[in-house]
Amino acid sequence: MTKKSLQTQLIHTDYVAPEGFDAFPPAIHHASTVLFKNAAAMRSGEWKEKNAYTYGLHGTPTTFTLEARLAEIEGGAHCLLAPSGLAAIAMVDFALLKSGDDVLLPDNVYNPNRELGRWLSNDFGITARYYDPLVGAGIADLIQPNTKLIWTEAPGSVSMEVPDLPAICAAARARGVLVALDNTWSAGLALRGFDLGVDIIMQALTKYQSGGSDVLMGAVITRERAVHDKLAMAHMRLGQGVSADDAYLVMRGLPSMKLRFEAHDAGARTVAAWLKTRPEITRVLHPAFADCPGHATWKRDFSGAGGLFSVIFDERYTEEQVDRFVDSLALFGLGYSWGGANSLVMPYRMSTIRRDWQGKGLLVRFNIGLEDTVDLIADIEQGLGKL
Ligand SMILES: *Cc1c(COP(=O)(O)O)cnc(C)c1O
Repeated sequence: MTKKSLQTQLIHTDYVAPEGFDAFPPAIHHASTVLFKNAAAMRSGEWKEKNAYTYGLHGTPTTFTLEARLAEIEGGAHCLLAPSGLAAIAMVDFALLKSGDDVLLPDNVYNPNRELGRWLSNDFGITARYYDPLVGAGIADLIQPNTKLIWTEAPGSVSMEVPDLPAICAAARARGVLVALDNTWSAGLALRGFDLGVDIIMQALTKYQSGGSDVLMGAVITRERAVHDKLAMAHMRLGQGVSADDAYLVMRGLPSMKLRFEAHDAGARTVAAWLKTRPEITRVLHPAFADCPGHATWKRDFSGAGGLFSVIFDERYTEEQVDRFVDSLALFGLGYSWGGANSLVMPYRMSTIRRDWQGKGLLVRFNIGLEDTVDLIADIEQGLGKL
């Protein structure tokens, strides 16, 4: 080639880095455009097969690697990444539901999932109906001929009821209905959803997988190729690409995830047990505690619990008082989400997120981070003093 002008040299180079570089971190491949070797390669590439690279949206070595690793961790065969956990939920709904269909959601479902259900009901000709999270085999009575999908969440991430997944899955399977599990609470570590009969597992990687409180991402994991193919079409049609840098951040969290999860779990049980002794608190909603709804199911199906639980304050305390408690905490940030090193707290107005909430007394959710529980308990103790 003739000598290039300075302007072209700024864009094209003949330099090729030496081969043979290797390191533990996976390479971060940034790409919108993916280059094909030649026209024949371009024409033969099939994005759905993941055996060729066609466009940034359909994947790079970075995102393929993260998908494969997540599928392996959950015991699935296929995985698709989405820009957030909620985007992953939307991928499932838009892949599997169409006008005239029916979807069942638990009453304790992650609230934005409920909002999506409302949208599907109001504007898309799909009915979204809600069931008691402790319904178990009784779900059979709710399944209609047009029911296509049952969402489950184990446990509900605010009120903590643990569903009987094998019973729900058996009833669904008998009627040819797919079951999707939001498995974020267990990070895919403490609950083996596919072994219990679930068809689709959704994860908010935003939480434990990342562990850094610095990235939003979601995943949808499946075993059946036919279900995966429908999801892949929705992923493509909705343009749910993720950035290589974000995929890298999530991958960076994986090696330490189990150790972090176990530390969150131990810390949460310590703090929850202390809260249980306090006269200000009437109930501790932690699935590992005997009085949590669905505790026996948790014991049967789970191997751990992570860092998230809720408490109910005695009904004599007003919202103003409980807000004062929340504001007075020094080590607990006031914020949504969980799975990072920092402890968090969040008061909920249950009547705004549950149609059937009976309880009196205000609910506050704790996410126990990785701080020393002696310091966390001292902080909560001084906060209770402000009530
Ligand atoms: C956080 C969360 C989601 C959504 O994840 P984002 O990445 O924040 O969109 C979904 N389900 C549960 C149970 C969650 O905790």
